[in-house]
Amino acid sequence: MAGKTIKSLTCPGREREIFCNRTLNLRSLRAIGYDMDYTLIQYNTDAWEQRSYEFIQGKLEDLGWPVQGLEYRSDLIVRGLVLDIERGNIVKANRFGYVMQAYHGTQRLKFDKQRRRYSRTVIEFRNPRFVFLNTLFSLSEACMFAQMVDKLDAGEIKDIVGYEELYRTVHQALDESHAEGVLKEEILAEPEAFIDRDPDIIQALLDQKQADKKLVLITNSDWTYTKRIMEAGFDPELPEGTTWRDLFDLVIVSARKPSFFDGSNAGFEVVEEEQGLLSPVGIQGLEEGRVYVGGNARMVEELWGFSGEQILYVGDHIYADVQASKSLLRWRTALVLREREGEIRALSGFRAEQAELTSLMLKKEELESTFDRIRMLVRRGEAVSGKGKDPKLEKFIVKLNRIRSELSALDKKIGPYAKAYGELLNPNWGLVLRAGNDKSLLARQVENFADIYMSRVSNFLYSTPYAYLRSKRSTLPHDREDASLSETGVIDLDTL
Ligand SMILES: [Mg+2]
Repeated sequence: MAGKTIKSLTCPGREREIFCNRTLNLRSLRAIGYDMDYTLIQYNTDAWEQRSYEFIQGKLEDLGWPVQGLEYRSDLIVRGLVLDIERGNIVKANRFGYVMQAYHGTQRLKFDKQRRRYSRTVIEFRNPRFVFLNTLFSLSEACMFAQMVDKLDAGEIKDIVGYEELYRTVHQALDESHAEGVLKEEILAEPEAFIDRDPDIIQALLDQKQADKKLVLITNSDWTYTKRIMEAGFDPELPEGTTWRDLFDLVIVSARKPSFFDGSNAGFEVVEEEQGLLSPVGIQGLEEGRVYVGGNARMVEELWGFSGEQILYVGDHIYADVQASKSLLRWRTALVLREREGEIRALSGFRAEQAELTSLMLKKEELESTFDRIRMLVRRGEAVSGKGKDPKLEKFIVKLNRIRSELSALDKKIGPYAKAYGELLNPNWGLVLRAGNDKSLLARQVENFADIYMSRVSNFLYSTPYAYLRSKRSTLPHDREDASLSETGVIDLDTL
């Protein structure tokens, strides 16, 4: 390495770390598969969704819908939310599937209305009434859906009978833009405006190759798009004379994930790369260094004789990338969750406020507990002597009133902190992995299906391909070490 510097491996901060749900020894991996869109290639989400929104808008305008003057709002939707297409709502659920926040169209539902709507409803994946926003590509269509719900309620869309049909039409408008290829053409004409290039990713992949891992690109995008986007995203950063193709031992495009992982899709080799001419995969199966269209995960396993725990798949789609590869093949899984960087920055900026909020909440819990116990003492006393008959109970009642006003003063202090916490990262929805104090439904999915997760692929650079990533000791409610409440249940009556 004479004359060259070795890039420092010091992780620049928590937001660039790899987080571990299930212990994973990177050293024991033999192959690593990568998704492309929002995994190897990070897009400028606002720029992409803005254009995508405008295409949907154009299609709906052709249908005569009242979309003129509307604008894409990046604050309205975040990944991990769920559309309730039966009711025209957008909801955020906690890890149990209970709705914690809801909007009808673009308007927040008041708490009592939200409770009436959803007190008996659990958000479930199998229920077709719910559409999960699994990827950053769904933000524009969800935004348009919310805005069109407002218009439908206002009687401005005549030929639509309900929210479900409304959603289908908006979704179809986006599908048509994709099918016609117009959106992608525009992106390919000026990729620099849409790609958020990450120079560290190349060293991270080179390190993995140096450590004898086979690298495979497995994307649902087609060959023409993949080729041009990978050229734009990688080639300018690579040493002279090398291209993105040198980084990957195998390239699979139009993979049709998640069905790619169930092992039944046929595969074709791209024999003439410029023209994209195809020939069927022969009996010998896949070969290293080639490009294939379709095929399936079993073919990848057979090429090198690797399987299950020897392969890591890295993607950004919780269902198509991560859940499917884990459930069907027991591959190890990594989720790229770009929002993690913003979340960590927002939380670290909120540290002092969080400490104050935690301390106020502890005080509140203590006071509530004391209140409840005194109240019980009063009830017991009254049961023996009759209500208002025992003058000795009077001082307890005075104390109860005092605590009541202390609690109300505390709530006034807590309110602004709780509001600020609820607006971290996004003013309408807060943090994507949290629902109030609890984990969000998205966080539960990440926990269930992603062995590790990180904000971007280049975070591998700092752990090296040899890291033994250990999951942290998980906590249970009874592990609480800072219990400040009296556990004896005894109140010293002399102190009252
Ligand atoms: Mg993707």
